[in-house]
Amino acid sequence: MALWICLACGLEHADTAAPPPACEICSEERQFVPPTGQTWTTSERLESSGSVLREELVEPGLRRVTVTPRVGIGQHALLVQTSEGNLLWEPPGFISEAGVRLVRDLGGIAAVTGSHPHLMGAMVSWSQAFGGAPIYVAAADRAWTRRPDPAIVHWSGEANPLPGIRLVQCGGHFAGSSVLHWADGAEGRGVIFTGDTVFIGPDGRTVSAMRSYPNLLPLPEGAVGQILDRLEPLPYDRAYGSFGQVIESDARDVVRRSLARYITWLRGEVDDF
Ligand SMILES: [Zn+2]
Ligand SMILES: [Zn+2]
Repeated sequence: MALWICLACGLEHADTAAPPPACEICSEERQFVPPTGQTWTTSERLESSGSVLREELVEPGLRRVTVTPRVGIGQHALLVQTSEGNLLWEPPGFISEAGVRLVRDLGGIAAVTGSHPHLMGAMVSWSQAFGGAPIYVAAADRAWTRRPDPAIVHWSGEANPLPGIRLVQCGGHFAGSSVLHWADGAEGRGVIFTGDTVFIGPDGRTVSAMRSYPNLLPLPEGAVGQILDRLEPLPYDRAYGSFGQVIESDARDVVRRSLARYITWLRGEVDDF
């Protein structure tokens, strides 16, 4: 038996003797099976081939955890430190004893979650390494869970896994796509973690939102408008993406302007077309 990890997306699957016939996440229109075909690995194999977990300080109370070399989609996990324990966001698709020690030295994990099914990595293994920490999965996306586990908590609309941390369901990319709001971040001005719900551009001054990023499928106006509406009540100044991108300040204004621009393009209300 083994916990198979899809090499393309980094999602850990349920414990089976042989790998699943296909990765349902990668076979669906929002992701892709590489032209070279479906391949599988395990954390043990990744570790013996040299994969390591590293962490770095992002800002006070926030650490970034990365896997080198990159596994799956290659998201950077974020570990938020609170007075009641830490939350692991977008868990890596790889776990090792050395990696667990590294995170234990940072205070361990009291809750695990991610923005949507593409970026949940080895969420159950990370939970189990820390006493079965609750794993927050949006109820709307429950069918995409690759490795069911009793620690999974289904939620809708909004959840508060730890003090000062809110999960806000925005939909769009997935019906359950969410952002995390961290009230104490950015020296108390508030931070959001955007995942693929709102994708931060390379200059950190623009965002977009898509049904599929690799396959360039846009969202309809109603979905973009819903994301704007769900983010509107949140106080925040900074935003972190899941691939190292950051909007250092005025993030709320950047999100509003960028998504309003998106809607003008969807409507064709543009001059240079
Ligand atoms: Zn996959
Ligand atoms: Zn995604």
